[in-house]
Amino acid sequence: MTELRFNELRGEQVDYAIHRQDRTFLPDREHCPLCPTRPGGPPTEIPFPAFEIAVFENRFPAFQAPLGAAEVVVYTDQHEGSFGSLPAQRARDLMWVWRHRYLELGAREDVEYVFIFENRGVEVGVTLHHPHGQIYAFPFLPPVASQEIAADERLGGCGLCRLLAGELRDGRRVLFENDAVVCYVPYAARWPYEAHVVLREHRPSLGDCQRRELEPLADALQRLTRGYDALFARPFPYMMVVHQAPTDGSERGHLHVELYTPLRTATKLKYLAGSEQGAGTFISDTLPEESAAALREAISRAG
Ligand SMILES: [Zn+2]
Ligand SMILES: [Zn+2]
Ligand SMILES: [Zn+2]
Repeated sequence: MTELRFNELRGEQVDYAIHRQDRTFLPDREHCPLCPTRPGGPPTEIPFPAFEIAVFENRFPAFQAPLGAAEVVVYTDQHEGSFGSLPAQRARDLMWVWRHRYLELGAREDVEYVFIFENRGVEVGVTLHHPHGQIYAFPFLPPVASQEIAADERLGGCGLCRLLAGELRDGRRVLFENDAVVCYVPYAARWPYEAHVVLREHRPSLGDCQRRELEPLADALQRLTRGYDALFARPFPYMMVVHQAPTDGSERGHLHVELYTPLRTATKLKYLAGSEQGAGTFISDTLPEESAAALREAISRAG
């Protein structure tokens, strides 16, 4: 069972999903629940001998009906690899799966916000290595979404449109751009190599995007994640999160993807410690302009 409790001091919900303690933890390849069920082999979560992209309800859900949903999105039936190493067409197809889940989950009465994300690497708590992401359908508007809406109100219009124009004008933190998206290290990044991939046009959600925008979005996300892997010549842990309009009909938002990256160097992690947790202020020892220069070079090396 899951239970929501309101934390008065922080003004936020805390989600208790206590069954999750028993979830599968870093199984070896032979016992991977996200691999296809091969003839004669043990049954996995996916009862097919092969597949392209699979979506199913998380067996250890952080949210479940009638208070939202939690889904697993498996990117491939190949156990090895990562989002960045998927064939380009598969990554493009994944954008359509995201769009479909956003629309279908968002249409539910009990869902206020569809949150699509991927945690990559044991450094950010991954318990299964098979390339996959997750979707939480929140029964309430989570705080980060509220903060971005508050930023729009503070700035008197779409905050993302304003920030994107500023990044393009300045140019020092732009990593690359294509017809539909711009990728940059934000001016006030919190994480050492944080990057944002932002739609050029104001589109509140995936549901407002057509193929000509979703394909370049997939290409850009792959290019960025391959650049991350090239940066320190090692698989680079990250949290990749999709921010878009809540599904309460308000259309407040501007589709973008944020990547949070805990590595400061090839071997040193940025921990969220006293100041970040207790005061809410990130202390960073890299300047966004310097991170952007290093990352740009790694992206061009990765090709
Ligand atoms: Zn697997
Ligand atoms: Zn906008
Ligand atoms: Zn955002």
